Amino acid sequence: MRLSRYFLPVLKETPAEAQIVSHRYMLRAGMIKQASAGIYSWLPLGYKVLRKIEDIIHDEQRRAGHIPMLMPTIQSADLWRESGRYDAYGAEMLRITDRHDRDMLYTPTAEELITDIFRANVSSYRDLPLTMYQIQWKFRDEIRPRFGVMRGREFYMKDGYNFDLTKEDALHAYNRHLVSYLRTYERMGLQAIPMRADSGPIGGDDTHEFLVLAETGESEVFYDSEITELKFGDRAIDYDNVEQCQAVLEEFTSRYARTDETHDEAVFNQVPEARRRTARGIEVGQIFYFGTKYSEAMGATVSDKDGNQVPVHMGSHGIGVSRLLGAIIEASHDDRGIIWPEGVTPFHCGIVNLKTGDAEADAACEKIHAALIALGLDPLYDDTNERAGAKFATMDLIGLPWRITVGPRGLKNGVVELTSRRTGESEELPPEAAVAKIAEIYGVA
Ligand code: ATP
Ligand code: MG
Repeated sequence: MRLSRYFLPVLKETPAEAQIVSHRYMLRAGMIKQASAGIYSWLPLGYKVLRKIEDIIHDEQRRAGHIPMLMPTIQSADLWRESGRYDAYGAEMLRITDRHDRDMLYTPTAEELITDIFRANVSSYRDLPLTMYQIQWKFRDEIRPRFGVMRGREFYMKDGYNFDLTKEDALHAYNRHLVSYLRTYERMGLQAIPMRADSGPIGGDDTHEFLVLAETGESEVFYDSEITELKFGDRAIDYDNVEQCQAVLEEFTSRYARTDETHDEAVFNQVPEARRRTARGIEVGQIFYFGTKYSEAMGATVSDKDGNQVPVHMGSHGIGVSRLLGAIIEASHDDRGIIWPEGVTPFHCGIVNLKTGDAEADAACEKIHAALIALGLDPLYDDTNERAGAKFATMDLIGLPWRITVGPRGLKNGVVELTSRRTGESEELPPEAAVAKIAEIYGVA
């Protein structure tokens, strides 16, 4: 992509309304624009990252055997009356009346609708287990929308729902989700720690929240520092293997890690003092097992092996897709801008032409740009007439992990410069070698 043809409305000034770094950088980098309180337009750069995050989630859900689908954002109130949540949800639910005076609402989550789909179509234990999920916009009329996409009113969420015959099966689904979420966040360059949490209006017995440690997080968290040394890595996992999933869950949840809602000072004090940490965290996901709460209320039953009608055991699982952009930036930035992890970067690398208009520099940039595209990569080529300093500032702000800098002086010696956004380290090498290195980094060599 040529920057001269792209839509990247970067701001020089720091917007006064933005209190935290991720919100400031998302506005300054032209990723989002507020449409009204807690509601944002996703400008091209922000939308690209949103899509990358979504792709990783779909990929990891597929690995875990979960089935993608899509439900509407506007739902009838009737289903929510059946579960009792139409009244219980309170002011956070955006209620809408249609032209026939029917009560509708903008979905804050979708347990009711998926349960309705289930009960209309599944009647036998033979069709279980079943896990379906969607990535869809949600609306919660938050009393205090703030911090940009971190606490929006309209936000993008992955929500998944499992249906199982027995509690044991549903707990396996729970464990499977925990494992797949660990992988999902790691691919985004994030450490998200599963912490025992409180179930809130979703209801249920078992629940973990995934928290990214950050000073600007809204939750207070307490944990054993050993937990931050755990990595899921690229270990092979068989999601159907009950023991294997259980073992991973135990590995990642046996140490103390809780939010303030479930914190227990006495238990915490049993952790050796040197390892006890109190910090702040951003909730980027949550998993629940809630048993037969919705299936009983809404008559979602199946016949078991003996022909008895039994309510199914369920759980639900959410990832804050749009919030993740904020969380990743909070976890990965410096005073010049964002530093995207390779897994979610909007462009794989930047190409900076130090002297646009210089025939040799232009030709070298074009060639690098074309070579990267031919490899299936997505570079951003700054072909504008800005000064070099301004070009660097923009690249640093938008946070592409790699930059190839091309200028007449280097080209005289047959070299360009390859710079890591994270470390700031540069090396000079021939243009073809720079392209090869980028290809290697992204595994397309
Ligand atoms: P919170 O406690 O932050 O209000 P929640 O526990 O009510 O969130 P869930 O129902 O667990 O939220 O939703 C799943 C995920 O959706 C959360 O883990 C969070 O990452 C994200 N999320 C929830 N509310 C918002 C919001 N207002 N803006 C952006 N993301 C949100
Ligand atoms: Mg939650």
